[in-house]
Amino acid sequence: MNDCLFCKIINGEIPSKKVYEDELVYVFEDIAPAAPIHYLLIPKKHISGASEITAENSSVVAHIFEVIAKLAKDLNLKNGFRVVTNCGPDAGQTVFHLHYHLIAGRELDVKMA
Ligand code: AMP
Ligand code: ZN
Repeated sequence: MNDCLFCKIINGEIPSKKVYEDELVYVFEDIAPAAPIHYLLIPKKHISGASEITAENSSVVAHIFEVIAKLAKDLNLKNGFRVVTNCGPDAGQTVFHLHYHLIAGRELDVKMA
C-alpha cells in the first residue's frame, strides 16, 4: 500500500522503535503509549483491518498471537496484559493497517467501552 503509515514503518521509510520482527510480523512501540508497555503488532503484508481477515490471510493472526505469548513470557508479564484491535470509525481506528495493541505494565481500567 503506497500511502499506508504502517507499511512505511515496515519498509523503514518512517522510523519506529522496533521490539520484535520476523518474516511475518513487525512489533514496535506505540508513539503515544497508554500504559508503561504499549506495543503494536502488525502483519508485514497489508490488511486494512479486522474486517478484512479471510481464510486466505488469517494464519498471520494466529502467528501474531503466538508472538504476543512469547513477548509476554520474555517481558515477564505475570500480572497480565490486554490485547486490543480497533476496527472502523465507531471503534476509533485511525491507521488502516491491521494492528493489535499489546498493553501492560500497570493495572488496567476494567471498562471495555
Ligand atoms: P488505532 O487508533 O487503533 O488505529 O491505533 C493507531 C495507533 O497507532 C495509535 O495508538 C497511535 O498512537 C499509533 N501511532 C500512530 N502513528 C505512529 C507512529 N508513527 N509510530 C508509532 N505508533 C504510531
Ligand atoms: Zn499498510
